[in-house]
Amino acid sequence: MTTADLRIPRDLYTALKTHVTQAQESAGYLLCGMIEDGERVVLLGREWWPVRPRYRLISSHGMAWHPNFDVAMLNRAQNERLGCVLVHHHSGGSPQLSPTDRETCESLLPFLSSEAPDRPHAFVVMGDRAAAGRVYRGGQLVASLGDTAVVGSAIDRWPAATLGLTSPRASRVGVVSNCGGGFLTAQLVRSVSEAACVTVLAENFPSREALRALRECDVIVACLDRFQARDDLNRFCKRYLIPLIDLGIEVALSHDSVPMTASIPGRISKVQPDGPCLRCQGVVDDARLEHERGGRALGQLENPRLPDPAIITLNGVVASIATTEVLQVLTGFAGRESPNCGWIYDGVTGVVERVEKRFRGCSVCVKERGVGDA
Ligand SMILES: [Zn+2]
Ligand SMILES: [Zn+2]
Repeated sequence: MTTADLRIPRDLYTALKTHVTQAQESAGYLLCGMIEDGERVVLLGREWWPVRPRYRLISSHGMAWHPNFDVAMLNRAQNERLGCVLVHHHSGGSPQLSPTDRETCESLLPFLSSEAPDRPHAFVVMGDRAAAGRVYRGGQLVASLGDTAVVGSAIDRWPAATLGLTSPRASRVGVVSNCGGGFLTAQLVRSVSEAACVTVLAENFPSREALRALRECDVIVACLDRFQARDDLNRFCKRYLIPLIDLGIEVALSHDSVPMTASIPGRISKVQPDGPCLRCQGVVDDARLEHERGGRALGQLENPRLPDPAIITLNGVVASIATTEVLQVLTGFAGRESPNCGWIYDGVTGVVERVEKRFRGCSVCVKERGVGDA
């Protein structure tokens, strides 16, 4: 491992930044889950703990706190199986560790990383859209901080401060699909961005191969006809802080002797690392999963199913909206105008509506966000 990347959900980053950029120099612990794949490590921001006033000490050279705070954080990290990332701020676009920072780092990180040797820990200086840092494991300095990404309605990616300006990596888009809408979206993403690397998994989630491939994606698109697979993928995206765009459309037929089209509900649901998940949004719930396990799926499978070619134009509408959302995540073109939960499409009236929902903090969002491989 020569570098380790850092991924932080936007709401945690906002809280962190507010604290570390206040007038009085301050710091805190970002406790992180992680992705570990051989030599590659990605730290995933899960909890932010600023140094509390009662732990602060008066010091001639900037911030200082009582060692009890470090011990409290180490205990918390051990209990939750997380890594410790100590964060403070320097203004400017190319932050570096000062001599005092190096002293603090060299006295603290070998201790933290020998006490909890089974995962990496780091000392990070954040600047304005740049970060630098050192990563320790088992008492040793093992890597420097690589890319930092703030993930929310769009991905804000900072190159490693120590490397200067590097060209952004090509985006990686994962598509998990067992129906036409997903394949169409993959085709559209490929045609709007030659740089995008699109991986299509036409298999049930989660297989081991799917997990390995998808952990590395910048954004995941799903078009699945089972609630269980959707629920698993929802959980997975929260664990690894990856934006998910889940789409589906069905043609519900009437129960007349000659079935007629009753309704054509389409849906493009977004799950942002800092937003409501599919459970918070009511797209997936235990009742639906239970019903599906009982042999009958709600939604597409409940009605007589039309073959994909019959609904290719309807799939085309939702696939186009989903692809536009992929572009929003990768480029942020719509800024704050993009809805937090996606869009509803009515295939009968042709009306597309924004979906805005409040973050409900369901068990998936609270317990699993940012835990990574743990
Ligand atoms: Zn400093
Ligand atoms: Zn949730």
